[in-house]
Amino acid sequence: MQFWNKTAETLTRQQLEELQLERLKKVLKRVYQKVPHYKKKFQDSNINVSNIKSLDDIKKFPFTIKEDLFVDYPYGLLAVSLEKVLRLHTSSGTTGKPKAIFFSRRDINNSAELIARCLVMTGATKGDILQNSMTYGLFTGAFVMHYGAEKIGILVIPAGPGNTERQISLMKDFGTTMLHITPSYALYIASVLYDKGIDPKKELKLKRAYLGAEPFSEATRKKIENILGIDVYTCYGLTEMNGPGVGFECLYKDGLHIWEDNFLMEIINPVNGETVPEGEIGELVLTTLNREAMPLIRYRTRDLTRIISEPCKCGRTHRKIARIIGRSDDMFIVKGVNIFPQQIEHILMGIKGVAQNYQIVLEAYDEMIIKVEIDRELFDGKIEKLIRLKDEIIDKIRAATLVKPKVELLEPGTLPANEGKAKRVIDKRTI
Ligand code: ADP
Ligand code: ZN
Repeated sequence: MQFWNKTAETLTRQQLEELQLERLKKVLKRVYQKVPHYKKKFQDSNINVSNIKSLDDIKKFPFTIKEDLFVDYPYGLLAVSLEKVLRLHTSSGTTGKPKAIFFSRRDINNSAELIARCLVMTGATKGDILQNSMTYGLFTGAFVMHYGAEKIGILVIPAGPGNTERQISLMKDFGTTMLHITPSYALYIASVLYDKGIDPKKELKLKRAYLGAEPFSEATRKKIENILGIDVYTCYGLTEMNGPGVGFECLYKDGLHIWEDNFLMEIINPVNGETVPEGEIGELVLTTLNREAMPLIRYRTRDLTRIISEPCKCGRTHRKIARIIGRSDDMFIVKGVNIFPQQIEHILMGIKGVAQNYQIVLEAYDEMIIKVEIDRELFDGKIEKLIRLKDEIIDKIRAATLVKPKVELLEPGTLPANEGKAKRVIDKRTI
């Protein structure tokens, strides 16, 4: 017997869009009737919610931005009565208060269903053992994944992040086959395994890892795959949309399927709010189509990506987005050039001799300093090797960003360990 509902995955494109339209009409009416904040927004924009004819009509509606979550805080955006709410999750907010998102029983069940679909899509099955190294608590990441994996019948080890020694013994003792973890922490665990002389390919049973919560590059994926001898899949989500499992890679690892029966996606130009031509990079905007307690309409995620229009080889009709380039607010400007931390990461992780941890420090007068840990053996060898490596890093970063960085080569373990979401950019210009 199957515990999650596979039907939505087998819909044709046309059926999927019909379902989206039906759900869109419903959710727009619901929020108009139940959420005063939306009623007012729609009235101010002169929109009649009964007049929705096509999916394109969504463009007439106003965006919801993070600041909207703080209007009538904390319960103002609820579309159900408070007694139907079973769970609260929050994530860091911009105004000092955390963004609060509420789940009804149906929402909890549904978010677990979406994760179950994601995991199965990558070959996970009953009998697998998932070590969940994301933070349990107010964040969505660990809980939503936990419930989703259980739905399939997977044994979940609720490890949480940190305490790397214990993470490794859990993996060894219980035969962990899958990890749910941030990319920076996966890199860190890989370096600790290396230092301890543990060969993960021989001594662990790991098969795959689900990396999420922050952007990472293809070079980082390859690096983690090679060191741990596993398959790495990208998992994208945000608290405002249930947490993880909004977008997920399939076996082809070439873009993330968005569960379009649950989310209506648009990509807009972050500056003027216009839809960009399909395939172009912009900000991902999501409307929840199947959420009970707290539906959000045209929510601006600030995450930058593009839609991949070509059908996936796996046969799923849910369209894909490219990996997240970064958040529009992650981008930093040095010497007038826009740079995303991920561009730097991609270059570093592709260079032989570079270890797992790095930091970008921005100093006065727009000086960009890259502090990068390198393989320990290099310090025992000839100085020429170090000089060559440093030059290679400088040249490659300059070629890709047009900015010449200063590079500091460090021994592994020098930079702060990332046992959760990493802080990669230290901008001293603003301190
Ligand atoms: P916050 O970090 O704002 O407190 P969340 O914990 O909800 O909020 O994190 C959601 C954000 O994390 C997303 O909007 C996105 O920027 C980032 N994120 C999550 N998963 C991924 C991923 N796989 N790739 C890139 N970025 C991701
Ligand atoms: Zn696919």
